[in-house]
Order: sequence, then C-alpha cells, then structure tokens
Amino acid sequence: MGIFQRFARLPLKSTYIWSLCPQYSTDLTAVDRALIVRSSNPGAAPPRLPFSRVTREDLAFFRTLLPGRTITDPDLLKSSNVDWLKTVEGNSEVLLRPKTTEEVSQILRHCNERNLAVCPQGGNTGLVGGSVPVFDEIILSTSLMNQVITFDNISGILTCQAGCVLENLSNYLEERDFIMPLDLGAKGSCHIGGNVSTNAGGLRLLRYGSLRGTVLGLEVVLADGRILNCLATLRKDNTGYDLKQLFIGSEGTLGVITAVSILCPRKPKAVNVAFLGCSSFQQLLETFQCCRGMLGEILSAFEFFDASCMSLLEKHLKLTNPITESPFYIVIETAGSNATHDEEKLHKFLEEVMTSSLVTDGTVATEATKIKALWSLRERVTEALTHEGYTYKYDISLPVEKIYDLVQDMRGHLGDMAKNVVGYGHVGDGNLHLNITSPSKDPALLAAIEPYVYEWTSEWKGSISAEHGLGLKKRNYIYYSKPSEAVALMGSIKAMLDPKGILNPYKTLPDNIH
Ligand code: FAD
Repeated sequence: MGIFQRFARLPLKSTYIWSLCPQYSTDLTAVDRALIVRSSNPGAAPPRLPFSRVTREDLAFFRTLLPGRTITDPDLLKSSNVDWLKTVEGNSEVLLRPKTTEEVSQILRHCNERNLAVCPQGGNTGLVGGSVPVFDEIILSTSLMNQVITFDNISGILTCQAGCVLENLSNYLEERDFIMPLDLGAKGSCHIGGNVSTNAGGLRLLRYGSLRGTVLGLEVVLADGRILNCLATLRKDNTGYDLKQLFIGSEGTLGVITAVSILCPRKPKAVNVAFLGCSSFQQLLETFQCCRGMLGEILSAFEFFDASCMSLLEKHLKLTNPITESPFYIVIETAGSNATHDEEKLHKFLEEVMTSSLVTDGTVATEATKIKALWSLRERVTEALTHEGYTYKYDISLPVEKIYDLVQDMRGHLGDMAKNVVGYGHVGDGNLHLNITSPSKDPALLAAIEPYVYEWTSEWKGSISAEHGLGLKKRNYIYYSKPSEAVALMGSIKAMLDPKGILNPYKTLPDNIH
C-alpha cells in the first residue's frame, strides 16, 4: 500500500521541522518526481500513518510479558523520546525493555497483529533522528539485552546480545587481550545492535574495515515476530544469499537485531598516537600519502579537524591544544605487535614530514593517559559543537582530495548567515563531517544549505550519508546517492519483510516508497 493511501488526517505534534529536497538526480521517473513533489512540504511534519493507538488491552499484554519493564511514566519516557542532538522529539507513551529474543518476538508479533508502529532503540546516540519516535510509535529498547553470550579466544569471535554498550564490550575484550574492531566517540552509550543497524564506521575503519566484513552473524526478529537465526560464527559461508547484510545499515526498518557475532582483532601490543599540525589541507593530504607509505600495516587511524573545531574544544570543553596553533590538526594512531619496531617507523615518518615542512608542529604519546587525552580532542568535537546553538550536520563521503573543498565552498556560499562552518572527520575513509552552526534553528540558513550541499556531493559522486544513515532527517535526499531503481527495490524488500510497515515507518526510505 502506498504512503499516500495510508496517510491519516490525525497529525500529532512533532517538533521536527521537516524539509524536503525539491531537486533529484536526473534518472528519476516522472512518477517518482510527482510523488516526491506531492510529499514535499518544507516546514511541516509528515502526517501520521493510520496505525492503531495503544489501548489498555495492549498495555495489559505488555505488562504481563514484561513485568516492571513496561514504562508509561511520562518523566521516564522523556529521554527516550528525544534524540542525542535534541533536534527530534516524539510522543511515545510506551517504552518496552525486553531481556530476551523470545520477548522481542512476542512484542513484535503482537504489534504486527494490532498494527502498532514500533521504533527500535539502542543507545539513542544516532545523529539523523532515526532512534526516536516521530509520533507515538512504541519504543522497543535493547538496554536490558546486555549479556555476552560467548567469546572464543582462539578465533576472536564474540557473540553477544544487541544491547551491549560498545565500551563495555571493549573493556570485556581488553581483559582477554582482544579489542572491538570499531570505536567511536559515542562508545560509552551506543549499543552494538545500534552500531550494526547504522553500519557505524568510526575511528578504526581504516584498519579493520566496515561492519559488513567483521560481523559474522546476526539474530534478527522480523516484524511479524519470526526469529531469523543467522548467528553464524564462520568466516567463510557461501551457502546462498548473505541475509545478514540486509539488516546491517537498515536502521531498524527491516527487523530488530537481537544478537550479533563479530570477529575481533588481537589487542595490539604497542599503540602510539601522534598529534600534528598542518598549515594547509594540501599538506595534510600529502602527510596522509606519506603516512600510508611509511607506516603501512601499523597505521590504524588518520583523523583530522580544523582550527575552528579546536577553538570550540577550547571554548566549551576547556581542552588544551598541546601544540602550536595550526589551520589543521591530525590524529594518527599506530597499532602493532612490536613497540621498538613501531616507534622506529613512527619516528622516521615524523622526521620526514617535519623536515619536508608538511607538518608544522606535533607531539607523540605512547602512554595510555596521554593517548586518551589526544584522542579526546578528536572524539569530543561533536560534543563541543552542541554548545554553539543549533547544528546542521552533514556526513559526506567524497574523493579524499575534495573533502575540505566542500567546507571552504560552503563558507563562501553562506557568508555571514552561519555562525560557524567547520570540518572534521575520517580522512582515511574520505569521510567529512561538515557542521554548520547558528544560534538557533534558522529556516533561511537551512534553505541556503540544502539542497546545495547535496548537489555538490552528487556532482562529485559522493554519498550524502557516509556512516550516520538516513533516519528521519535525510531519507528524502537518498536520490542524490542512489538511482531510483535501487530505491524502488529497497521499497520491495521492506514490503516483503514488513508488509504492514510497522518498523520505523517514517525512517530511511523516502516518502514515495513507504
Ligand atoms: P540508536 O541511536 O539508538 O539507533 C540508531 C538507529 O538504529 C535507529 O534507526 C534505531 O531504530 C536503529 N536501531 C537501534 N538498535 C537497533 C536494533 N537492535 N535493531 C534494529 N534497529 C536498531 N557514527 C559513526 O558511524 N561513526 C562515528 O564516528 C560516530 N561518532 C559519534 C560521536 C558522537 C559523540 C555521537 C553522539 C554519535 C556518533 N555517531 C557516529 C553516531 C551514532 O553513535 C552511531 O550511529 C551509533 O552506531 C548508533 O548506535 P545506538 O545504539 O546509539 O543506536
């Protein structure tokens, strides 16, 4: 059933200011365009779809299934209704906290039969408005599904429930001489199920690759309550389609992930972090090239942020710049098995970039506390930005040599309209986080940014969402990165796995597909 047939005229208040893109990639059909134009209503929330409302009988069912874990107290629900950025707020009246896969299965079976919409939620650190309800969807939280199931210290394969907090898993593994293959600034709150659902990238992707490679198996509950057990722990398995890939990055629209098995690397014996300053982005790129050549297999991260980010870290978080002021800062991490060998390599590389003047100043840490302090400069940029007022966030993949051109172009394009236009991100992955701040929400500023930023990205064949997903905020811009045939196929997969569309109904897919 198409979205327009299912719209009900019962809009609940949503505080999200909806803005849709009026321009599309050239390969859209006339029907696609017409559908998008019909749904294009900048400034308005999408209408609520005609899902049932939660009744006393539903609550009685949930309370019997989850005694003490069916939350209806509005005060307790508040934080689950608002996203991390505090830019999207829903009106859910029920938060469910299952502990087992069987409980998730019974919840979804009931919701599907009753046509109740559901918003799966992990650590609620998502940055695209995917993790909170838009209207009154039931919030299905994985926060109590936090048990490690098995860990094999020969293969390094960890199997755990979806609600394990990433940092807890990292600590668990470190005690056993292993590490998680991913790391991100939100590690203290995000869940492994949320990471897999968003296909989170983060700080170690350069070295260990994406979750599409390291996740070996998933257990997923489908919208009708069926449990799909693909919790394999094999590195090689070519028996038919690799179904788990459908759920990695599908942002809770195709099923609820209840358990994950993941391949974890050995804990490196030697870790070094270098924090360097560069006077131009071109020099930063040349440093990256040199770094890849000279550090080779021990390079584990190459991150950057610009001088505006450093000012915000100093101003709002009182962090100290450990080197002389520079237009650009780089965090390089090496991780290897031989401290002497790694330090020697790193020092040769540093000598090379200092003598060739690619780098203006720098400091190196080998000790854990100092390593943490240097990393926190990069990891806390997102947090520093939240103190500036309202932040318009863009998570863009581009050819690496183009990533900072977008920041500079945007500064010229916006002039005084923006308070800050800053750039940071994962150079090694060609992933720019472009953030634009203003004292408060500013529709004129937004109109100047979008669709300009998406057109720019599309022109350079980039992706409008490198690692954060589409969620509520970006879903109607998918056509800038994907052909209409691919989007239509995504719609068919959604219709097959979730025919009533109860899972995250307002997220990820554009309006004309639901
Ligand atoms: P949530 O925010 O709760 O949910 C995200 C999406 O996944 C939602 O659509 C939700 O419905 C769905 N979902 C959650 N759990 C499940 C489940 N079990 N089954 C099905 N669907 C589910 N992201 C990066 O990629 N790289 C970074 O470097 C990075 N750094 C960040 C730094 C900070 C300070 C912050 C606040 C965020 C950062 N993020 C980053 C974004 C965010 O942390 C990631 O997207 C993370 O993977 C989300 O996990 P979560 O558990 O918080 O999921």
